[in-house]
Amino acid sequence: MSKQEQKSPFDAARRRFLKTTSVGAGAALAITVLPNLARSDDLPHLSPSDPTAQALGYVEDTTKVDGAKYPNHKPTQDCANCNFWQGGSAEYGPCQLFPGKSVHTKGWCSAHADKKA
Ligand code: SF4
Repeated sequence: MSKQEQKSPFDAARRRFLKTTSVGAGAALAITVLPNLARSDDLPHLSPSDPTAQALGYVEDTTKVDGAKYPNHKPTQDCANCNFWQGGSAEYGPCQLFPGKSVHTKGWCSAHADKKA
């Protein structure tokens, strides 16, 4: 037992509790949050020339959509407000329609579906 613990066993127990819980909370955060962040960053960007991307008219910039080809496109639509977007506030993030790839937050494709409230 250290001199500190001899002086105040309650304080020593409280210090041990705080150490244990802070290490546990840090480990829980690392296990749950960090892999998701790393996964989003690690995904290769979807190329507009990818055959599936081409089939759905995917572009990285919603302002570049061919309005003649996609008359239902609205300039306010982009990946960030699409129901299939899973990237949070990241510049690139996963889309449920393109597994294993990340799409640009300002991108668009003809499968765009307004995010449900
Ligand atoms: S489905 Fe939505 S999030 Fe995915 S590429 Fe198309 S517009 Fe973007």
